[in-house]
Amino acid sequence: MKKVKELILLKLGGSSITKKADNKFEMNEEVLNNSAKEIALALKEKEFNLIVICGVGPFGHTNVKEYDLNNGIKTKKQEEGTEKTIKDCDFVADKVIDALEKQKIKTRHVPGYWVCKQDNKKVIAYEIEEYEKALHGGEVPITTGIMVKDRTLKWSVMSGDTAIAQIIKQMKPQKIILGTDVDGIYTSDPKIDSNAKLIKEINKENLESVIKMASESKAVDVTGGMKGKLEKLAEQLNGNEAQIFNLLTSGNLEKALLGKELNSTKIKL
Ligand code: ADP
Repeated sequence: MKKVKELILLKLGGSSITKKADNKFEMNEEVLNNSAKEIALALKEKEFNLIVICGVGPFGHTNVKEYDLNNGIKTKKQEEGTEKTIKDCDFVADKVIDALEKQKIKTRHVPGYWVCKQDNKKVIAYEIEEYEKALHGGEVPITTGIMVKDRTLKWSVMSGDTAIAQIIKQMKPQKIILGTDVDGIYTSDPKIDSNAKLIKEINKENLESVIKMASESKAVDVTGGMKGKLEKLAEQLNGNEAQIFNLLTSGNLEKALLGKELNSTKIKL
């Protein structure tokens, strides 16, 4: 019998692969290239299937704010803003693809606007066939948060975290690892509060209180920051384990992919 490969869902957080905190339309090339190298190293050590969801940081959030794209597309300017946002988010995907291909990893871009349709900002259809095709062909599918068609609003924001929730629901990955710019979920925002303590495990017992503690992102983030992330995960995990870790610390991504110990928050619901 053919052994089924483990499916790992990896989020490269916008706060780490882009200059989200400085609100600059720039990639953090160092973190991105290092991440690609660590993925390649892990793939040499162990066989697994991988899906990569890229956070887009300012390439999404700043455009959405500037052009007011989250409450319906009514004007010409908003239409132009939608087009620009899509182009900018595709640019992030292209950068991630370049970094992975440099490491000889085959990839396939699966843009959100191909596979997702929303109504009033809520997903009404999310097709996973493109992901399956890529995995069957030995490719790593890459997607991002982006603007997608919306039945009522014409276009609306579909965040990377929403894509994650859909993929979890439909493809049931064995491992979900989310790289960001802090070590995990803390008792309060560690960028503001130096007394914040890392919460090593989130389970059914402490989930409610942790959601109350996690605030929205300090950087421009129209999709809810750490709080939004946790709420979306909580809805979908259903017994799956997730792990939030720091992508800025080198070595972490390789360890997370291989299931080795690292400083992080594990979510077991
Ligand atoms: P990403 O873009 O990597 O997906 P976000 O910007 O959405 O990440 O969320 C990460 C940010 O959330 C951190 O940079 C941190 O400042 C902020 N944050 C707010 N509350 C918390 C908390 N309780 N624990 C950890 N981070 C928090």
